[in-house]
Amino acid sequence: MEKIRMTTPLAELDGDEMTRILWKAIKEELIEPYVELKTEYYDLGLPERERTGDRITLEAAEAIRRLGVGVKCATITPNAQRVKEYNLTEMWKSPNGTIRAALDGTVFRTPILTPAIRPVVRNWKKPITIARHAYGDVYKAAEYRVPGTGKAELVFTGADGKAVRETIYDFEGPGVIQGQFNKDSSIESFARSCFQFALNARQDLWFSTKDTISKKYDHTFKDIFARLYETEYREAFEKAGITYFYTLIDDAVARVIRSEGGFVWALKNYDGDVMSDMVSTAFGSLAMMTSVLVSPDGKYEYEAAHGTVTQHYYRHLKGEKTSTNSMATLFAWTGALKKRGELDGNEALMAFADRLEAAALKTLTDGIMTKDLAGLCEGITPRAVNSMEFIAAIRERV
Ligand code: NAD
Repeated sequence: MEKIRMTTPLAELDGDEMTRILWKAIKEELIEPYVELKTEYYDLGLPERERTGDRITLEAAEAIRRLGVGVKCATITPNAQRVKEYNLTEMWKSPNGTIRAALDGTVFRTPILTPAIRPVVRNWKKPITIARHAYGDVYKAAEYRVPGTGKAELVFTGADGKAVRETIYDFEGPGVIQGQFNKDSSIESFARSCFQFALNARQDLWFSTKDTISKKYDHTFKDIFARLYETEYREAFEKAGITYFYTLIDDAVARVIRSEGGFVWALKNYDGDVMSDMVSTAFGSLAMMTSVLVSPDGKYEYEAAHGTVTQHYYRHLKGEKTSTNSMATLFAWTGALKKRGELDGNEALMAFADRLEAAALKTLTDGIMTKDLAGLCEGITPRAVNSMEFIAAIRERV
């Protein structure tokens, strides 16, 4: 059989621990036998980040910018314990944070649906994609513990030295205050990424905030989305037969639960943090969530939403077999190959990615799955297999 050719390489970002093991197996067993795989390889494993003083992460981000499409394996974000474990000279920053900042991107998380596992919410039939604004608000807030009686004020000093003050509260006793911010430029990038993603997916875009209570802060988000929709996206949305829909977040929650799914739900930073966990749990499992970072100028980085599955890796190191789910990592690869194919007009590559996804889903409906899914299965008697048996079962079905 002749292998499928690629014209432009993918930026390939390798990672850590158990997902690094799966990464290699997926490439060798499920992609390279069928595709003349072209990638620019960046090893984002922690030892290489240490060796290069994290320069490798910046180079990888630059490669995604240049090539347009990247695929990333899960990586360790070091904490104090990892600094010891890996003998690090510094607590290197989260690679995802670095890449997100470099691409000014928004993260979209979408569950992989299979008839073998029914969502907890019975009427959900299609995936719900959560788009989370990953900048500012409570994550970059200044906080202050008020010790006792006194006046809290909001003060803004302009570049011309003029100050504007507003009373927050006249405290009669101890309490707390918090100062949040966001920037129009970041909200605009977020909005553009959301509109662009919805157009590509040909799905409706929902956006929700609490603008009735937060008349300036949240209302600014609502206004920026509305303005960009009218001036830049309305025509394309109408042509694609999709809609942009704004509603209050409480109303959105009620509608989402009663919906069939099949849309993109854009959320502010904190709302997105909370709702994405709720949606992924209700759809089944973190190991079945894919994630794509989209920049406002149309660069894409695909990955699994889960981490490096550390406990499985320690068992793997002891020579034990693990039952680690490779679905989300595989779908990161197929997502990237499909996008590469779309950008290069490479139909064969796109068709292959579809075939690989279908084979993986068929494996699940045939009842062959990793342990994390076997417990969630309904209507069929699953056979729980180990990590490599699962990948082999997919290969039989490609
Ligand atoms: P994790 O996602 O690795 O694991 C969380 C839980 O889900 C564990 O109980 C794990 O067994 C289970 N799980 C996750 N993916 C699974 C899979 N594919 N198959 C079977 N079970 C699965 O998150 P964690 O334990 O909080 O973090 C481990 C490491 O991953 C940390 O060093 C963290 O920094 C890193 N991390 C990386 C990313 C990323 O690169 N995108 C995201 C989150 C965490």
